[in-house]
Amino acid sequence: MVIDLHCHSLHSDGTDAPGGLALLGDQARLTALCLTDHDTLDGIPAFLAMQPQVKVRLLVGTELSCRFLGQSLHVLGLLVDPSDARFQSRLVELRARREDRNRRMLVRLAELGCPITLEDVQAQADSPLLSRVHFAKALATRGFVRRPPEAFERLIGDDCPGFVPREELSPSEASRWIREAGGVPVVAHPGRFAQGAFHWDEAMADLQRQGLEGLEGYYGEYRAAEQKYFVALGARLGMVVTGGSDYHGAHKPGLRLGRGRGGLQVPDDLLHRLEAQQRLGAHR
Ligand code: AMP
Ligand code: MN
Ligand code: MN
Ligand code: MN
Repeated sequence: MVIDLHCHSLHSDGTDAPGGLALLGDQARLTALCLTDHDTLDGIPAFLAMQPQVKVRLLVGTELSCRFLGQSLHVLGLLVDPSDARFQSRLVELRARREDRNRRMLVRLAELGCPITLEDVQAQADSPLLSRVHFAKALATRGFVRRPPEAFERLIGDDCPGFVPREELSPSEASRWIREAGGVPVVAHPGRFAQGAFHWDEAMADLQRQGLEGLEGYYGEYRAAEQKYFVALGARLGMVVTGGSDYHGAHKPGLRLGRGRGGLQVPDDLLHRLEAQQRLGAHR
C-alpha cells in the first residue's frame, strides 16, 4: 500500500487539473494523495470535491520556499486546514512577493537582451500563479532559447544572471505558519538542497530546533542511497519521515504520480505517524 504526499497541479507549476490528479491517484492505486502546490491552496476545493468519486484519500498541503544557509529550502505544509483564514492571507502575501519578483525578473531579462512581457508569461499558465516554469516556456516561445530547459541553464536557473530571488521566509517562520494552520512542517527533498559533502546531521538538527517536524525521506528523484540516508536521518532525529513524487505533469517529464522515476514506493504507514504528529501539535 503506497501513498504520495507531494505533487503539483496547474494552480502552481504542474500541468494537471486537481480533479485529474485525484483520478490519476486512484488509477495508480494509491491509498492517499496530498496536493502541495507552491504558495497556494487554490486547487484544493476542486481536488477535495473529487473525494466521493475516488478511493484514494485526498489530503491538503502546500509547498513554501525559505532561506536557509544562503540557499532556497523548500518546506511542505502537510495537512494544513484550507479554511484557516489567517493562513490563506499569509499565502496571499507570499504570492504578492512572487509577483514582485516576477516583475523584477522581466526587467532583468530585458536588460539581458530577452525582452518578454508579463502577457507572454501569462499565456503559458492556466492559473494566476506564475512560476519560472512559465518564464522558461515564454522565453522559448519568443525564440530567446530553443527549448525551456535551456532557459534554466542560461537565464533563469538559480545561478543564472536573469534569476531574481524572492523575499523568502525563515524556516522558523514557515514552520510556525504551518503549525498555526494545523499542519505539519516538513523539509522537502533535502537531497536537492545540497549534494556531496554537505553535513546534513547538524543542519537538519538546526532545522528541527527551528520548528521543522519532518523530512522527505522518500522522493521521486532520489537515488537508493539518498533514500536510505534520509530515512535513517529522520529516524535518528525523531522526525516524521514523509515521501512523494513531486509530480508536475508535463513540466517534469518521466516523473509519475506515486511512482517517481519508477522505483518510488512510499509506505502508507508513514501517514499514521504524520497524523499522530499533527494531533500532537494541536494539543500544544
Ligand atoms: P519559482 O518558484 O517561480 O522560482 O520556480 C521554481 C520552479 O521552477 C521549481 O519548483 C521547478 O518546478 C522549476 N525549476 C527550478 N529550477 C529548475 C531547473 N534547473 N530546471 C527545470 N526546472 C526548474
Ligand atoms: Mn515546482
Ligand atoms: Mn520543491
Ligand atoms: Mn514540489
